[in-house]
Amino acid sequence: MQRIQNFIDGQYLDAQELGWLDNYNPATGKVYSMIADSNEADIELAYAAAKAAQKDWENTSSENRFKILNRIAELIDINNTEFAKAESIDQGKPFWLAKNEITRAAQNFRFFATSAMQFSSESHQMEGFAINYTLRQAIGVVGCISPWNLPLYLFSWKIAPALATGNCVIAKPSEITPMTASLLGKICNEAGLPKGVLNIVHGLGPKVGNAMVSHPKIKAISFTGGTSTGKHIASIAAPMFKKLSLELGGKNPNIIFADCDLEKAVKTSVQSSFLNQGEICLCGSRILVQKSIFESFKTAFLEEIKKLKVGNPLNDDTKVGAIVSKMHFDKVLSYIELAKQEGGKILAGGHSVQLEDDLKDGWYIAPTVIVNLSYDCRTNQEEIFGPLVTLTPFDTEEEALTMANSTEYGLACSVWTNDLNKAHRVAASIESGIVWINCWLLRDLRTPFGGVKYSGVGREGGLEAMRFFTEPKNVCIKYN
Ligand code: NDP
Repeated sequence: MQRIQNFIDGQYLDAQELGWLDNYNPATGKVYSMIADSNEADIELAYAAAKAAQKDWENTSSENRFKILNRIAELIDINNTEFAKAESIDQGKPFWLAKNEITRAAQNFRFFATSAMQFSSESHQMEGFAINYTLRQAIGVVGCISPWNLPLYLFSWKIAPALATGNCVIAKPSEITPMTASLLGKICNEAGLPKGVLNIVHGLGPKVGNAMVSHPKIKAISFTGGTSTGKHIASIAAPMFKKLSLELGGKNPNIIFADCDLEKAVKTSVQSSFLNQGEICLCGSRILVQKSIFESFKTAFLEEIKKLKVGNPLNDDTKVGAIVSKMHFDKVLSYIELAKQEGGKILAGGHSVQLEDDLKDGWYIAPTVIVNLSYDCRTNQEEIFGPLVTLTPFDTEEEALTMANSTEYGLACSVWTNDLNKAHRVAASIESGIVWINCWLLRDLRTPFGGVKYSGVGREGGLEAMRFFTEPKNVCIKYN
């Protein structure tokens, strides 16, 4: 059986204590590979490699950093099919979707490769008296921890800016989806990334992830994952005064006003509900619809959902693949039960799906639509992160905002209206880091990315990421 090793100092290595964890294929429910079960000793080894490489990497010209990161992007593109197949098998997402995401991972490297060349710092003049300039220096050795839903995409979203700014990185992908991060090591060597600049350590979050966060010399942690994990990480890292970027959970609303383009709102809401089995932090899981169009929206939405085939992630016609793990599968099903207890009426799905032959033990859930729930019940307040959405009617703009802003989260929101003034008003009043008007998941990598409230602290993307991964130092020169 294939063994996924750590990638430290440019070499693939077993964990120091030689432990292994099972890695499952969610489509079949079977173990298909083993991953290194790393601990503090592996973090120490990775740290030593990163520390040894750091000064040289920081002093590498930005043009050379650009060339290497850009080459990584090219090699990911060249190997798109291999990566996408690996991602689909590891995560359960449809292969066609994995292909898009691998392309986006390459784009992350390309984008931050060019950022390395463009990044500049500020100067502040005190007229006739002095000048200040800001040095933006690499932090040193930084830690990146990513989740299982968009494995290589989110992994690269952190690693690329960290490397572009001259840091050396210790990165941990989710233990549930380690495969494409592991393939990345080979590509980094081929692209000429010096040994030790990127180190990939596998294993359990509470064990090796915790060791990384607790390491006194890893000076910054960029984390994407659940809110409770983020809270735990902050409790360790904050007293050590580490720089922290936390991209956490969401419970995003789609607000559909009566004056919207209904057909587009329906089609996009189906996507934002069920793409990647609803396992995208930006998915809209609460669809709020103005009363006068509630029935027509509901009818069209349910009609559209009939087209979503649940099936083998490797088949081209599959729209909804497998749920990433047995634990997550059970969690989503338990929320369907909760919704029923809370008085919810299931209009579509509401059950698991058993496929045939090799796939009969895989973890599949039918796209589920629930109505008749109050906006403040648990189903409408807690993050479920699966193929389950609720439809809730509202009367006025004010009521829509009350509902939308009622959760402890504030990551993203999608607003549907053809009234320009209303679009601006609602965008300004929504408590979230990202607002889409008449669209969803339209991403420009230069824009700030992240959430407010329990959805996180700090922003990724563009200059925000370049600034996060550098330490500003002000130099003040007095004129003679
Ligand atoms: P988790 O918080 O469970 O895990 C995220 C990562 O943290 C994994 O690599 C995990 O390792 C690791 N980890 C777990 N415990 C610790 C610890 N004590 N110390 C250090 N690292 C730890 O999240 P999921 O993987 O379940 O991902 C789903 C969550 O991610 C959802 O809440 C989703 O909303 C959020 N998310 C947020 C995004 C955003 O941009 N705001 C984007 C995508 C997802 P292991 O897998 O081994 O447990």
